[in-house]
Amino acid sequence: MKKKDLIDFEKEIVKLWEEAKIPYPVHFSGGNEDQLIELFKEIKEEDYVFSTHRSHYHYLLKGGSKEKLKEMILEGNSMHVFDKELKFLTSAIVAGCPAIAAGVALALKKKNSKSKVWCFVGDGAEDEGHFYEAVRYVDGHNLPCIFVLEDNNRSVETPKKIRYGNSEMKWPECVRRYNYKAVYPHVGTDKWVDFSGKKAGGASF
Ligand SMILES: [Mg+2]
Repeated sequence: MKKKDLIDFEKEIVKLWEEAKIPYPVHFSGGNEDQLIELFKEIKEEDYVFSTHRSHYHYLLKGGSKEKLKEMILEGNSMHVFDKELKFLTSAIVAGCPAIAAGVALALKKKNSKSKVWCFVGDGAEDEGHFYEAVRYVDGHNLPCIFVLEDNNRSVETPKKIRYGNSEMKWPECVRRYNYKAVYPHVGTDKWVDFSGKKAGGASF
């Protein structure tokens, strides 16, 4: 999938959300198209992808259909995108997937499989013990799992400097970080949307 296709898909969903046609929280992707397109050149069909609350681009780049994704989003499952055939799973829990990813990677190693696991996390998850535990297990047991740290310098809306000052963790090789500037707020867009007469959504939701 090309950069323009990713952006256009998200714009279509933004429009629907701002028209109050999706009365659920949606975390829009944007600003990391180039990095992800490059990264997904390495991700094979037989590989497992674990994503986050912000999963639209990951799903499309894994080969998911736009129509199926749109349907899931309209049903309120933007944060719960799942596709067994694609080997694609998300968790909306911060650092909810790393332990599962480590377990799947252990199973793949035991089966001498050629598949790998790619586990996406945000920089908010980097602060979580669950991430640390999974990374250490994968590193120590040399499991076929790569954690992709998508660093947009915000956990919800709090930048790293406020969270932990000047600290930078030196993660092992199984963790790859890329930095990007997000196009959209943490959830929703900058526009306030009236859902059934109630004010909801928006940047501070
Ligand atoms: Mg973040």
